[in-house]
Amino acid sequence: MGAFLAGSAVLATLAALSAACAGAVPAVREAKAPVAPPAAASAGPSAGSSPTGRGGPLAGKVVVIDPGHNGGNAAHREEIDRLVDVITGRKPCNTIGTRTRSGYPEHAFTWDVAGRLKPLLEAMGAKVVLTRPDDKGVGPCITERAAIGNEARADAVVSIHGDGAAESGHGFHVIMPGLVAGHNDAIVRPSRRLGLAIRKAYRVGTRMPYATYAGRDGLQTRTDLGGLNLSKRPAVFIECGNMRNSRDAARMSKPAFRERIATSLAAGLRQYLR
Ligand SMILES: [Zn+2]
Repeated sequence: MGAFLAGSAVLATLAALSAACAGAVPAVREAKAPVAPPAAASAGPSAGSSPTGRGGPLAGKVVVIDPGHNGGNAAHREEIDRLVDVITGRKPCNTIGTRTRSGYPEHAFTWDVAGRLKPLLEAMGAKVVLTRPDDKGVGPCITERAAIGNEARADAVVSIHGDGAAESGHGFHVIMPGLVAGHNDAIVRPSRRLGLAIRKAYRVGTRMPYATYAGRDGLQTRTDLGGLNLSKRPAVFIECGNMRNSRDAARMSKPAFRERIATSLAAGLRQYLR
């Protein structure tokens, strides 16, 4: 940790100020300390979308994977702090996300999981579209992320996050869209089915407990998230664990566990889409 001592005070501040990463509160100022890379980062997903596979249980299906946040956000606060309309309020265009106490950032976690999930879905015949092409860029805004799912006519949209809650809380939860009348009426019910399928597969596949600090039985419904309010396609968020909790962070920092996360998400999507 020696090299990161300068950042530890900043990280402590981040811990104190951290908010749920899905964007209830604008993110705090980014630390300038070097960031410890994950033990064995995957190359991440390849950019863009894939051709629709022939055959397979998900043939003809389109899945949009939204890896939360982005690696360039912290250096472009003016762009990502800009407020955008999410129908029920105004939210920052995007946020920097959270990180573990040892410095593994959420944007890298979500990018890595997306990179593992994409080929699993493609192997089952799905067309996969990502909401960002790499982990070095800025944004896109939550409004644009929702638009990508809509334009792709996604059969399912999964937004991947790691939470930045109080360190005493642990476990995962799936966030489903609440009704925003006149806007997302058509997706509330299918999104709930998607959420239930993903909750079950994630629980079984990762053995992660339901969140102790949010939602109930691993499920939460919200009407303040742009990605859900603006989606015209079935969509859920998953907070894969609490990156501020030492036990969850240790698991989420391991490539083998991220592979289990991806496998579990693929199983949940398959169950929903079949
Ligand atoms: Zn997040």
